[in-house]
Amino acid sequence: MTLFEKIAARQIPAKIIQEDDDLIVFHDINPQAPVHVLVVPKKPITRLNHAKEEDGKLLGKLLLKAREIAGLLGIAESGFRVVINSGRDGGESVPHLHVHLLGGRPLAWPPG
Ligand code: AMP
Repeated sequence: MTLFEKIAARQIPAKIIQEDDDLIVFHDINPQAPVHVLVVPKKPITRLNHAKEEDGKLLGKLLLKAREIAGLLGIAESGFRVVINSGRDGGESVPHLHVHLLGGRPLAWPPG
């Protein structure tokens, strides 16, 4: 099982915000902004580079969920960023696709 599958299975503790049949949302353990949440599909797609055409609906759901959680956590109007790190140069550290939702402070661009 991946780390995030273990969180979904409650084998590893996390501050879970929401879940449904397709995804789980929880606070990042090492937040890089006042709001730093991960939106994770329960299907263990390794990374965006490995997503398939048939995953399109699920990928769209992750983005819409990130927007919903931004509203729930009060950063929809101030602004937020969604990030997917894919592969070594993308900065991916957990090989289970996830969307970062970051906000609550001005975020610099470009990223490092
Ligand atoms: P990435 O580097 O894009 O693969 O993102 C992985 C993220 O997972 C990082 O921001 C980590 O801080 C976060 N993370 C790692 N372990 C945990 C955990 N047990 N609970 C919550 N977030 C985690």
